[in-house]
Amino acid sequence: MPTRFEHRLRTKSTLDYSKAVRLGGINRYKWPKFRRLQLMQHPTCLDCGAVAEEVHHLIERAARPDLMYDWDNVVSLCRKCHQNRHLQKPRF
Ligand SMILES: [Zn+2]
Ligand SMILES: [Zn+2]
Repeated sequence: MPTRFEHRLRTKSTLDYSKAVRLGGINRYKWPKFRRLQLMQHPTCLDCGAVAEEVHHLIERAARPDLMYDWDNVVSLCRKCHQNRHLQKPRF
C-alpha cells in the first residue's frame, strides 16, 4: 500500500511527463532516441573508425540550440576522439 506521500510523488511525475509530451518532448526524452538513431546509421567513429559510442555536435549546442537535432550537425565518435574534439576546440 503506498502512503499518501508516495502517491503524491507519483502523481506529480506523471503530470510532468504528460506536460513534456505535450510540449513535443523535452531533451531528456528526445535526445536518447535521436542519439540512438544516429549511432545506428553511423556506427563507427568518424575520426578513427572504432565503434562509436557518442554523438558530437559540430556546432555546439550552446551556440546553436536549434541545431541540436539536425542530422547535418552531428557526427558519431568514440569516447576518446570525442574528448579530443572538445579539447581541441577553442572556448567561446
Ligand atoms: Zn575514435
Ligand atoms: Zn561533443
